[in-house]
Amino acid sequence: MLKQPKLHLPTPRERPEEEKVAYKSGEVMHDKNSVGKERPWRKRKLENIRYAEYLKILEFKKHHKVHDCAEEIKYKITADGEFKLYQVWFCKSRLCPLCNWRRAMKAGKQLELILEEALKRQPKSRFLFLTLTIRNSVDREQLKADLAKMGRAIYKLMRYKKVSKNLLGYVRSTEITVNQDGSYHLHMHLLVMVTPTYFKDSSNYIPQTEWTKLWQKAMKLDYTPIVNVEVVKPNQAKGKSSLKASALETAKYQTKSADYMTDDDDWNLQVIGDLEFALRGSRQISFAGLLKEVRKDLQLDDMANGDLVHTDGASEEIQAKVQIAVAKFDFQKMNYFWS
Ligand SMILES: [Zn+2]
Repeated sequence: MLKQPKLHLPTPRERPEEEKVAYKSGEVMHDKNSVGKERPWRKRKLENIRYAEYLKILEFKKHHKVHDCAEEIKYKITADGEFKLYQVWFCKSRLCPLCNWRRAMKAGKQLELILEEALKRQPKSRFLFLTLTIRNSVDREQLKADLAKMGRAIYKLMRYKKVSKNLLGYVRSTEITVNQDGSYHLHMHLLVMVTPTYFKDSSNYIPQTEWTKLWQKAMKLDYTPIVNVEVVKPNQAKGKSSLKASALETAKYQTKSADYMTDDDDWNLQVIGDLEFALRGSRQISFAGLLKEVRKDLQLDDMANGDLVHTDGASEEIQAKVQIAVAKFDFQKMNYFWS
């Protein structure tokens, strides 16, 4: 395990006019969601500090920036005493455990809005949840090349006649997990929106074996890849095969911080170095067809680099004077405290 990182003072940032509220000053900050569950600020910040330290060792200049991520959290206090997340500065680095937590929340909410609207426009449409995989990638060069190749192959796959004739749109996300031998398991999740005619007969319906063959062809593989396809149950609000569950699966983290927050520093450094290299310039989530159109119409902002404060998509109402509560991370005591 690494030693506690040294105290690093961030540069002061812009402060808008505000009225600061002394709220439990000096006490440990607690932020609970609507069902009373503690939000994982501290856990994520501790991981973020380790991540910044690894970046420093790997000589990434951005380590300062990453270290400052969500060092200060500002809440707006509403008229009825409710605390609403108001201002936080996020580093937006690709593997930042804090930013990825916010991104997954935001992507999940955005997808929900997009799917809801798409269903309004095509009420009879159905969804498939596809997971496309390839053999493990052994190193960072191959991982990067495989990532790009899979993206192109999906584009091709969706243009095959049997697929495209019932296709309305899709959303695609990438997930990379690390195997015990240090190789990488790359897979892509696709939520595919189809017309009801997809289920009409065998000239329209694509069984799992056929999806596998099409994926093998699109990827030009000399082996049979693993392809999983599930039909999303319509009118099912919850459960494994519901649209919501599939949307959340699609929107979840691209990488798991547990894969590079192990007890083995050398392992973590290797994985972070590899993933930083492989993921640079790649897109975490992308949309096509009707889902792309709807996303544009709803004017949703960038999932990866947009606002990570208001992850629920609600816009901020303008107030002349706001009551603010501020929590700051204490790098000695390793926790957030109200200031
Ligand atoms: Zn961050």
